[in-house]
Amino acid sequence: NVTDAQDVRLSLDGGINYFNGRPYSERFKKILAKRKELAVYDRMAAFFEMYDRTQVCLYVGETGSGKTTQIPQFVCYSDQPHLKGMIVACTQPRRIAATSVAKRVAEEMDVTLGKEVGYSIRFEDMTTPDCTFLKYMTDGMLLREAMADPTLSRYSTIILDEVHERTLATDILMALLKQLIKKRADLRLIIMSATLDARKFQTYFSLEEGALVPLLKVPGRTHPVEVFYTEEAQEHYVEAAIRAVLTIHRFEIPGDILVFLTGEEEIEDACKKIQQEIEFLISHKEMASSIGPLICLPLYSSLPPQQQQRIFDAPPAPRTHGGPPGRKVIVATNIAETSLTIDGIVYVVDPGFSKQKVYNPRIRVESLIVTPISQASARQRAGRAGRTRPGKCFRLYPEQVFTKELESQTPPEILRSNLGSTVLELAKLGIKDLVTFDYIDSPAPETLMRALELLYHLGALDTKFTLTPLGTVMAQFPLDPQYAKLLIESPKFGCSREVLTIVALLSAPNVWMRPIHKQREADQAKWLLSIPGGDHLTLLNAYNQYRLNIRDPQWAWKNYLSKRNLAQADNIRAQLQRIMERNDIPILSNFPDPKTEAQLHENIRKALLTGFFMQVAHWDIEKRAYLTVKDGQAVQLHPSSDLEGKPDWVMFNEFVLTTTPYIRTVSAVEPGWLLTEAPRFYDVSSWPEGTMRDALQRASKRVNRKPKRSAAT
Ligand code: ADP
Ligand code: MG
Repeated sequence: NVTDAQDVRLSLDGGINYFNGRPYSERFKKILAKRKELAVYDRMAAFFEMYDRTQVCLYVGETGSGKTTQIPQFVCYSDQPHLKGMIVACTQPRRIAATSVAKRVAEEMDVTLGKEVGYSIRFEDMTTPDCTFLKYMTDGMLLREAMADPTLSRYSTIILDEVHERTLATDILMALLKQLIKKRADLRLIIMSATLDARKFQTYFSLEEGALVPLLKVPGRTHPVEVFYTEEAQEHYVEAAIRAVLTIHRFEIPGDILVFLTGEEEIEDACKKIQQEIEFLISHKEMASSIGPLICLPLYSSLPPQQQQRIFDAPPAPRTHGGPPGRKVIVATNIAETSLTIDGIVYVVDPGFSKQKVYNPRIRVESLIVTPISQASARQRAGRAGRTRPGKCFRLYPEQVFTKELESQTPPEILRSNLGSTVLELAKLGIKDLVTFDYIDSPAPETLMRALELLYHLGALDTKFTLTPLGTVMAQFPLDPQYAKLLIESPKFGCSREVLTIVALLSAPNVWMRPIHKQREADQAKWLLSIPGGDHLTLLNAYNQYRLNIRDPQWAWKNYLSKRNLAQADNIRAQLQRIMERNDIPILSNFPDPKTEAQLHENIRKALLTGFFMQVAHWDIEKRAYLTVKDGQAVQLHPSSDLEGKPDWVMFNEFVLTTTPYIRTVSAVEPGWLLTEAPRFYDVSSWPEGTMRDALQRASKRVNRKPKRSAAT
């Protein structure tokens, strides 16, 4: 019994909204005309033909062909989740894609965002119970839901989108759903992607040996894109990208430009410089008449929603009637590669880099590094130029680099991530044997070992690697296990309120602002807020001052703090607080008196160590560097750290790999605390001989001489 595409089209053209019985608005009709131009819309009948006959299927189509916006709507016509109180879910690897597409689809369906159509991302749930029947969500959120409800009983169809991205959460979800479809005959699964080695997925999901899951491939309507290379490698790729934009704007025919850079700071910087250069050109009388207006917009994941939406605006109009036409430039991260499609792009500037996660299990370090992209990514990027008409892609590297140096595919994230959270999630899901688990690509055994080791030392797993009661509570928090652990332990130190604030701040985007032309002022402002002992206490102080001055709308701005990110930290804090309360973790602050501030600061750092005892480094006089414990990796304090006087022992939150390895968000600790707060890990008798062991042994003697004092007061 296949859904009739003709009926769906008639209903869409009929004037009455099928899902709520209300008449369609004018806007709906306008958008519908646009939707009808999409390749996916054309193939509606073929889609129903496949979807209605199978439990699992694959849908592959060019970026921008309409997969993410259209397919979930088609599914709703066939699956009718609204009539049976179920939900159709569509996962996205990126938060910004989940929110932006949900908003678009709510408009396309002529319903209110957060009602019939909603989204769910970490720390933000925009859905209504008993009303939302189409939900866009990050893959990580669906994975978390599976932990609470292993059969995902609320969902009737699950669409895993952007599978080619091969994020860690998507990979794990694929394995879980592969098991689940055997148990739930009523659950349907669609695997969607842009480019993909479809065969691999067709065999992976097939329940019979040798059989293949059905596949529908929809060719996109793309135009040819001419690719240009530079003669030589560019040392300063941001500068080169800015120059390329200016050249295009001056000498190429109208059409918008998409530039790929690697991160927020770089992007904001480039946008400012492009805008300045253009203003400079226009200020010259002889140029003004020949150069059109240009608007330059950033696009990265932590951008606030209103600003994100601006990328869909039309380019600026000519300054004078009949003058040179305006142009829109979007400077984006990888988000614009396949997750979000911006119409009107004719030129792509591709320096060939992106920020990628890498994990080195030997030194237990996960870091984001600016890395050359793969050939597959470079092709995707070029493809963005041919959406509306023939386009041009300027690769800022020589052709040799593309053919000889770039890898053909980006390796899946599971092969380059720390698996701490994942292994905890799998343990919570009752997956016992992590090594033989049916991954689509298995992680390195050493990486799994590191994750097990971490969780064992944190107390989440026991010696048989089964989940402990502590581990069960830790799994409730949508956080890395270290953070969950210290939230749980913090009441023992009488400072869970403060620790909660710190964790929330560390989970939010960076609150410190440092505009390029105001760096000195920003550093000065930060210095005034800094607290001896380390960056964690300074963060806490900044937040407390922000709360104290909440009535002064200028306060955050005057102190070079991001009000938006502080507000987000506030929101995260409230949510984490609810999880703590639900698990009976008391929220206390036992040191209200300024006289006991030193004790408070000490206790906070001790509490932080209960989670981060493995992220500790010791100053080595000879090497003039900090060496990380156990692995002996030489690192320096990140320039953003306000920690003074090079304390012997420090704890850090983040490892930043650039030309020099840095540690960021650092606090001073006492070696004695390591022995009292993490005795299992700091059992020095089992450590290899060396200065680290000597130093710890000296500390150990001191601790044993001191009379015992209880941590909490
Ligand atoms: P795919 O998933 O196949 O890459 P999408 O469904 O994301 O394609 O996009 C289909 C079309 O919808 C594109 O032309 C895109 O520009 C448009 N679109 C998506 N989101 C928005 C939005 N927020 N505003 C305007 N147009 C949008
Ligand atoms: Mg898509």
